[in-house]
Amino acid sequence: MPETFAQRRGKRETKQLLVSELDLTKIQGKGDFPCPNCGVTISPEDETEDVYTIIEEKLKGDVLEALVIQCNKCSSRIQLTGFPVLEMDYV
Ligand SMILES: [Zn+2]
Repeated sequence: MPETFAQRRGKRETKQLLVSELDLTKIQGKGDFPCPNCGVTISPEDETEDVYTIIEEKLKGDVLEALVIQCNKCSSRIQLTGFPVLEMDYV
């Protein structure tokens, strides 16, 4: 039985990892970016979690304000900010 996200989160972290910050509004193209530490390409569209794992979602109301991910290759953490505000078309 695979461990759940909550169980993984529940594990105690023994060391404080440095978190890099990345502003998505400063990224050109489709939103792919290289890991600041090891250079592996991280794509926010990739939901397989092969390359990275989502650690934390920070919401402000219903708006996603920041997303903390962990690179699976080098274990560094990256906080993504600058998510586009999705405008709903009610018409
Ligand atoms: Zn990395």
